[in-house]
Amino acid sequence: MNRPGKICLKTLRTVLIFVTLTLLTQVGGIIWLCIRKIGRRFSEKRKIQIAINAGIYLMIILTVVPILARIGGRVALPIIATKKTPVEPRSFLFVIFNRHYVKPDARDTLIDAARDLSATYPGSVVHYLDGGFPFFDKFPMLPHLSHSRGEAVDVAFMYHAENDRNKYLPCPSMIGYWLYEGPKRGEYQPYRSRPSKLRWDFEWLQFFKGSRRLDRERTRYFIRHLLEDSRTSRMLLEAHLHRRWGIVHHKLRFQQLNAARHDDHLHLWVKQR
Ligand SMILES: [Zn+2]
Repeated sequence: MNRPGKICLKTLRTVLIFVTLTLLTQVGGIIWLCIRKIGRRFSEKRKIQIAINAGIYLMIILTVVPILARIGGRVALPIIATKKTPVEPRSFLFVIFNRHYVKPDARDTLIDAARDLSATYPGSVVHYLDGGFPFFDKFPMLPHLSHSRGEAVDVAFMYHAENDRNKYLPCPSMIGYWLYEGPKRGEYQPYRSRPSKLRWDFEWLQFFKGSRRLDRERTRYFIRHLLEDSRTSRMLLEAHLHRRWGIVHHKLRFQQLNAARHDDHLHLWVKQR
């Protein structure tokens, strides 16, 4: 290939990586543009260069980004659960992808509910999934467009060991999504006869749920606490679970037709005051 062709290809590659990282992590693209040549100064080996750059990226997203996000009005959710704040991501990927930012009221509401849960059911930890990006209210966070304002956070259900109801376990999916508590025969499903492109059914994946069982008591207690909290604006949960778990509340809704399913997690919306 001639020189202009090579330059063109290199530019296209840079743009593609930048756009992909930006869509996935919001600030990953710009950080990558700034740091991508640093690794080369320390080693000629590609793997070492990548490791150095990855280390710098981690350092930036764990130290600089939270400070800047706070200036813009968003805070990071806890990364490691402690006794004081029994909240953590289901996977560290949510942190690496900068998807654990919310506005302060959403964070406080979640932490207060988690503290109450762990006081009543010792050993409980609330695992969150996608929250929001660190900056800008109108920046789309794919595939959850309703998370763009930093006022929404997805939370996994609670589980227990097959033979020990007191042994708390996090949800079976390593990323929190896709292993769900699907509708049983005869349960209420308002959109059953109207297929939606956004509603995925991974029946074959359910095999990976293994032996852990949904902890109905803990999950219901946690949901009720959130619904009773005056800061909570709305919660989304699949319609059949409202009835199965016996929860009725004006803030509890089920998603409309063209939306992702909500029987593998709940969607909490806390409007910032
Ligand atoms: Zn959500």
